[in-house]
Amino acid sequence: IVAREWHRENTVIDIRGVPLGGNQIQVISGPCSVETQEQMDESARFVKEAGCRLMRGGAFKPRTSPYTFQGRGVEGLAMFRKAADKYGLPIVTELMDVRMLDTFLEYDVDVIQIGTRNMQNFDLLKEVGRINKPVILKRGMAATISEWLMAAEYIAAGGNHNIIFCERGIRTYETAYRNVLDVTAVPVLKKETHLPVIIDPSHAGGKAWMVPALARAAIAAGADGLLVESHPRPCEAWCDADQALSPEELKSLMGELKGIANVL
Ligand code: PEP
Ligand code: MN
Repeated sequence: IVAREWHRENTVIDIRGVPLGGNQIQVISGPCSVETQEQMDESARFVKEAGCRLMRGGAFKPRTSPYTFQGRGVEGLAMFRKAADKYGLPIVTELMDVRMLDTFLEYDVDVIQIGTRNMQNFDLLKEVGRINKPVILKRGMAATISEWLMAAEYIAAGGNHNIIFCERGIRTYETAYRNVLDVTAVPVLKKETHLPVIIDPSHAGGKAWMVPALARAAIAAGADGLLVESHPRPCEAWCDADQALSPEELKSLMGELKGIANVL
């Protein structure tokens, strides 16, 4: 179903009126994690002011250590919804546990993110395949392109064809940056599938200063959008502080992108 042979034209996914996969580039931005109502209100304001039309934020966080901050949970979803609604921004947030799906629907989450660690959580994929919410399927950090396509097929097979692929960097021998952004995945996926492809330069590089270069490379390679972490005060972020753009940096990235692509 996800194959280009099945559907020749590019699929444009409508996210509460925001098109993803057409000739406009969409930049989804916001903090790694939902922290407080104030932080989310501030974030929604600067994300909107920068010109982004979609907002991200994690309420449930897949942390390497069980002893670090795990996310604000349902309370976080409520804070996110409230802040984003004030600025008319559809929300993107990660679902880790199938038992939370009904809660996500209750809060009317606009785009469900499946993280790199769950790309092959087939039961989770089957469940999001049964609803009609758009799904961002991040690439497993050690997944091949064909494994990634098959993971998407699990969602599509259940009837949900609103799938967005997100390359977020893969694991290699390199240690100078968090992951290696596989830009090659963009043209390859655009050839193999009719679905939108976006890039997450934040988790790929792992450092804020790397984000603009990786973002430009993604757009030049043909990506349909970006998922960029930002925070009102990056150095105070509870999670992924090193890679968060400040409001000013996000604004300047948006300006740069407008010079090379049809952003907005
Ligand atoms: C995230 O987007 O905050 C995240 C946890 O991403 P990934 O699944 O790519 O690590
Ligand atoms: Mn993060």
